[in-house]
Amino acid sequence: MNLREQMNIVIVGHVDHGKSTVIGRLFADTNSLPDGKLESIKEYCKKNSKPFEYAFLLDTLKDEQSQGITIDTARSFLKTKKRDYIIIDAPGHIEFLKNMVTGASRAEAALLVIDAKEGIKENSKRHGHIVSMLGVNQVVVLVNKMDLVDYDERVFQNIRNEFTEFLWKINIKPVIFIPISAFCGDNVAEKSYRASWYNGPTVLEQLDGFANKKETRELPLRMPVQDIYKFTAQGDDRRIVAGTILSGSIRVGDEVVFLPSQKRSVIDSIESFHTVPKDIAYADEAIGVTLQTQIYIRPGELMVKANEKHSLISSRFKANVFWVGQAPLIKNKVYKLKMGTTKIGVKLIEIVNIIDAAELHIDTYKGQVERHDVSECIFETTKPIAFDLISEIEGTGRFVIVDNYEISGGGIIMKNVTSGDNTL
Ligand code: GDP
Repeated sequence: MNLREQMNIVIVGHVDHGKSTVIGRLFADTNSLPDGKLESIKEYCKKNSKPFEYAFLLDTLKDEQSQGITIDTARSFLKTKKRDYIIIDAPGHIEFLKNMVTGASRAEAALLVIDAKEGIKENSKRHGHIVSMLGVNQVVVLVNKMDLVDYDERVFQNIRNEFTEFLWKINIKPVIFIPISAFCGDNVAEKSYRASWYNGPTVLEQLDGFANKKETRELPLRMPVQDIYKFTAQGDDRRIVAGTILSGSIRVGDEVVFLPSQKRSVIDSIESFHTVPKDIAYADEAIGVTLQTQIYIRPGELMVKANEKHSLISSRFKANVFWVGQAPLIKNKVYKLKMGTTKIGVKLIEIVNIIDAAELHIDTYKGQVERHDVSECIFETTKPIAFDLISEIEGTGRFVIVDNYEISGGGIIMKNVTSGDNTL
């Protein structure tokens, strides 16, 4: 089977700065549209004496998608020779933020659109903040509508300098700024001869240049222990350690370490349900392993390989959470954190930043995280736990918070915080 590589890209920008036009142009120029679509819209515009807009393409595609089975109208699909892209166009969309923070979907890269004539708006900065809080680290800034400023390099450089300074403050190191005119097609899919001073990639080249996340089976092994079964079939007292592999692979003979207890052993056999024992198992497989030595471990521990990078062990971390609880997330109350098969008490220690998802409003001063807020927080668990940063391994870099028996928030871990660490 020839499975095409997929990548999620989020596109953000102040309203009217040209997001839909950029997407429409990318669709049209990569032939990602259904046959005849472009022509029929052009024809429609002509008949109704309307100027043709690339943004219309997106609207009609969305209409069609929403009439079909796709309910998520904020996504569109773009194909290049290299891979398929899902373009997510809804920065302040509550569903989108929830999906990003809880892990239903993650974006590998972000396009931030700024109108060259209007310049940087407060919303451009808010979007920057959101992209930063979502942990997207490949960010490209598209300085659009260059045709309205006569492709003047100075306008582009001024925006670049000012916005770079802002992005650095919020921990984003932009990959590149591209001067474009989505309307005229400059530097979107085709190089612009009107902005001849620019020698960098087009938007399309840049998309294909983004690094995709690694295949989960190529990452280090992470298997949360679900259960331990005792069996005495051959007269001996052996244990099966059961769980689902989140990432990596495991082979008979591999030395493994359980975290946070640090107990070690070697894999003796790998069993999987309804099949014969096997020598190797990969991410997404539910397996049971037997070990060469008798060690006592508990459900909730994380199995990693001795010779690969281990998870971090800590009780404090910085995370970005999306809160959906009826009651606000408040400091010093003990909630339950669930990560993999771990369940443990957790407290909110500090709020670093809050963004109200509906209003895209940044509010650092309110003392609690309310429903539909995205917040950057420091948490502390009652005992040390094993986890990874979301930037390294997704499966063990995210968690949910339970309040009153209900899932009330989802989070991604951005940073390990050791006590005395003031570089939040
Ligand atoms: P969005 O709200 O960010 O999705 O913005 P749209 O894509 O709908 O664009 C807003 C308006 O700006 C539309 O009238 C577009 O035709 C216009 N526009 C978009 N890109 C360009 C451009 O590169 N040059 C010019 N002159 N107009 C543009």
